[in-house]
Amino acid sequence: MARSNSALILGGGVFGLTSALELRSRGWQVTLLDSGTIPHPDAASTDINKVIRMDYSSDEQYTAMGELSIQRWREWNARWGEELYHEDGFLIMTRGEMLPGSFEHDSHAFLTARGHQLVRMNSALLQEMNPQWKAESFPNGYLNPYGGWGESGRVVARLKQDALDAGVVIHEHVPFGQWIEEQGRISGVKDALGNEWRADVTVSALGAWTTEYLPWLSDRLWATAQPVFHFRPSNPEDWRAPAFPVWAADIGTTGWYGFPANAEGIVKVANHGPGRRVRANEPRVMPAGEEARFRTFLRETFPALTDAPLASTRICLYGDSFDGHFLIDHDHDHPGLVIAGGDSGHAFKFTPVLGELIADAVERKPNPWLPRFAWREAGDRGGEGARAKD
Ligand SMILES: Cc1cc2nc3c(=O)[nH]c(=O)nc-3n(C[C@H](O)[C@H](O)[C@H](O)COP(=O)(O)OP(=O)(O)OC[C@H]3O[C@@H](n4cnc5c(N)ncnc54)[C@H](O)[C@@H]3O)c2cc1C
Repeated sequence: MARSNSALILGGGVFGLTSALELRSRGWQVTLLDSGTIPHPDAASTDINKVIRMDYSSDEQYTAMGELSIQRWREWNARWGEELYHEDGFLIMTRGEMLPGSFEHDSHAFLTARGHQLVRMNSALLQEMNPQWKAESFPNGYLNPYGGWGESGRVVARLKQDALDAGVVIHEHVPFGQWIEEQGRISGVKDALGNEWRADVTVSALGAWTTEYLPWLSDRLWATAQPVFHFRPSNPEDWRAPAFPVWAADIGTTGWYGFPANAEGIVKVANHGPGRRVRANEPRVMPAGEEARFRTFLRETFPALTDAPLASTRICLYGDSFDGHFLIDHDHDHPGLVIAGGDSGHAFKFTPVLGELIADAVERKPNPWLPRFAWREAGDRGGEGARAKD
């Protein structure tokens, strides 16, 4: 494909900003539009933190993407001169046996076979090393020292600055209006204010909002609401690594996971479960009973956190795909348009490798990781190994 030199990116989350940066570094003229301020308060990429892991059962591709991403997060910390990725480790515990086929067993076995030094855990070690846990309830698990959490909202702000420094033109508060279609191609968008934005290629990086503007993908992409709770314990020091690293508690069957206290003393707890299917533009309401559900979990897992005051709550949206894999490819029915979405609640950790993936897709360059994310019709529902099923 002759190098066209202009790209229009819709959406300033991690898919949009990393693709803008990478295309710019390859010589493209890049303009990025977002309907609000970047970081957008409702964007999935915002929030205080996200898990960064390589633990993906025996899935070779996601494990390799996680390994490379962790390496690059370390490099970004060095380049930024501040730690936005905290390698506090990832503690994965289960109330049951680590049986073959379980997320815990297969991740431990697969990573050990790849040469990673993991710490096999049991209740006695948990009691000693991580006293905030109700150790007697968790007889099995492991600690992966390679992994941790990223300050997601602050990462987005950093990437935005990097993009501006690299010459990406960013326009905020420019909500998408409609597609401009000329000679059978998408050649840009008309925003809701009536301005026209044209480019050789338009990249849709609209996250959970994708099907609001690309309704023809509604059979394979949709928005799923997930509750997030931020607690403010009175003694945040007791809720920090190494005693309290990023954790997962029977995540493959229950979805529960969470974080150490951040600099503001906030402990985030969330659930990587089925969630609720919603429209991305509808008001976000925390269902009744969620707080009680979270506190019941805390009582059974971290008793000292059960009655901690709430700092805030959030409904955050996954841009789910039918099979749990991202969709990064040219739209086969709309030439000129590239889709970068379908994050399915697990893409933030891969931020350091997303830009290359999307830019290679735009330029139709071979990339060993792209076939999994290629254009595909809706099919058998799947989901990545750590996601608790219906
Ligand atoms: C509760 C929750 C927990 C998560 N935890 C983790 C985790 O621990 N680890 C992990 O790896 N991943 C996690 N994720 C997933 C991760 O957050 C996403 O995969 C990633 O942030 C998606 O990025 P995005 O750029 O596709 O979408 P967003 O970050 O949502 O960006 C989309 C952008 O599009 C903009 N936009 C919307 N409409 C318009 C319009 N009309 N015109 C212009 N712009 C528009 C929005 O303002 C927004 O800035 C989690 C997600 C959620 C919801």
